[in-house]
Amino acid sequence: MKEIIVAGAGGFIGGHLTKALNADGHKVRAVDIKPLNKWYQVHSGVDNMVLDLRIKENCYQAVNGCNEVFNLAADMGGMGFIETHKAACMLSVLINTHMLMAAKDCGIDRFFYASSACVYNGEKQTDPNNPGLKESDAYPALAEDGYGWEKLFSERMCRHFTEDFGLLTRVARFHNVFGPFGTYDGGREKAPAAICRKVIEGKMLGRKDIVIWGDGHQTRSFMYIDDCIKGILDIMYSTITEPINLGSSEMVSINRLVDYVEEIARYKLERKYDLGAPKGVRGRNSENTLIKQYLGWEPSIPLKDGLKKTYDWISDEMIKSKGNNSKKAVFNEA
Ligand code: NAD
Repeated sequence: MKEIIVAGAGGFIGGHLTKALNADGHKVRAVDIKPLNKWYQVHSGVDNMVLDLRIKENCYQAVNGCNEVFNLAADMGGMGFIETHKAACMLSVLINTHMLMAAKDCGIDRFFYASSACVYNGEKQTDPNNPGLKESDAYPALAEDGYGWEKLFSERMCRHFTEDFGLLTRVARFHNVFGPFGTYDGGREKAPAAICRKVIEGKMLGRKDIVIWGDGHQTRSFMYIDDCIKGILDIMYSTITEPINLGSSEMVSINRLVDYVEEIARYKLERKYDLGAPKGVRGRNSENTLIKQYLGWEPSIPLKDGLKKTYDWISDEMIKSKGNNSKKAVFNEA
């Protein structure tokens, strides 16, 4: 039986990946810096470890005796976080560097690295009708400042650990992932969860308006978590040696995203646009020719279906936290 480590297992994607690997019958080591009671999901039968993976010795402790590594640990969040915490985002380079060193020295068979669409050249994302970013659009390099440069550098570390040391690495560039058991408040949340939360708050408190970051015409694609997990596993066990897009190609404007959430909620709000808020690039979409070629598949769960499940989960969480008053701030937020 294989023993597999998931780094960042206390987070959103890592929690879902741990669940899938555990359900497949693998022995899983789940590692995160957060105390266990702050993990989004804790699964029975999994070996849970609380370690700061920026520290080299901790990476060796985590990796030793395992066969495969999925590295999803990073200090990250939505635009509101990454635009204001560039140094913190760049320090995640310590995690991937030390995880790669430990993987090489401990004889790991396969290493997965979670990269991001933030590696793409900003000049190729100025049009809201973005035709889709293909993998080669990462160069010439002009990544998202801070977070995106760290991802691009770490991608290249993976490449050179393969070339120089023979460590088998796989790299996926995730485009906005969303779903239940993720961040929806506190400042690290991304657009789908943030909009669900604001609409739910509006409905609960009888508010009339909603604040949208930017003018609402900026575009993105959003991948539901189940597609993300399938993609991670398919890419890990594929022959793909270059970084590859893992994202939906169903591009929508932020205004359309709000329309969908309002339809799910059956509640309409007047939109107030905060033009000074962090809003990221103007247009971003995933170009999926390569993944279709390699895997005969692309993420395809419709946005609206995924949003319904996410909305329901966030709504339940907010009702629960209102009940026990443990997340009072959610309801007090302006
Ligand atoms: P998340 O923040 O929910 O999970 C990341 C986890 O890493 C957190 O639980 C955090 O505590 C942990 N971590 C941070 N620093 C650590 C450290 N020093 N040692 C150990 N653990 C540490 O984020 P997520 O959405 O699950 O993202 C997972 C990965 O996918 C990240 O690498 C992220 O950059 C990448 N990614 C995510 C998205 C997305 O839309 N969610 C998009 C592109 C890339």
